[in-house]
Amino acid sequence: MLEQLRSAIRDVPDYPKPGIVFKDISTILNNPELYRASIELMVEPFKGRENLYIAGIEARGFIFGAAMADRLGAAFVPVRKAGKLPWKTRAVSYALEYGEDTLEIHVDAIPEGADVVVVDDLLATGGTVGAVLELLETSKVNVIGVSFLVELEFLEGRKKLGGAPVHSVLKF
Ligand code: AMP
Repeated sequence: MLEQLRSAIRDVPDYPKPGIVFKDISTILNNPELYRASIELMVEPFKGRENLYIAGIEARGFIFGAAMADRLGAAFVPVRKAGKLPWKTRAVSYALEYGEDTLEIHVDAIPEGADVVVVDDLLATGGTVGAVLELLETSKVNVIGVSFLVELEFLEGRKKLGGAPVHSVLKF
């Protein structure tokens, strides 16, 4: 199944800009068997955990994180781009190649001390998830893992994630 998943991912050269090879996972979502298998593999390390919170990062982290929460009987917490959440938020800003971006979480989304798994589709440089971990640190929660479908190992994103246990299904 890992090989099927790996070969289903579509490489799109020079998207969104020259020199980047974009890993298009919509080809997995498009296939019911592969989508389900990817969720099965992503939840594997967290099966049987109770009172779990899945923090999914907008937007592709929602697609995997929400399905994982359903599979695990966990709560789902959206981590969203600035200005999208209606209630009181905590925010973190982080550097992009040009400029910066901001992610937000509702202040009361996760109780202090709760176990959390952070989910995104892909780990590249680690900037995005690193910022979310920083955000969760101020929320005093217990991050038990970070889960990705794809990890681009050559970018060494793991180094930006401190001690959080990283789980990725496919490594390139
Ligand atoms: P980073 O902060 O560099 O780890 O980038 C992670 C975010 O950017 C994830 O939400 C990915 O969806 C997206 N991303 C970065 N690089 C790629 C790539 N080569 N292919 C697909 N998505 C990417």
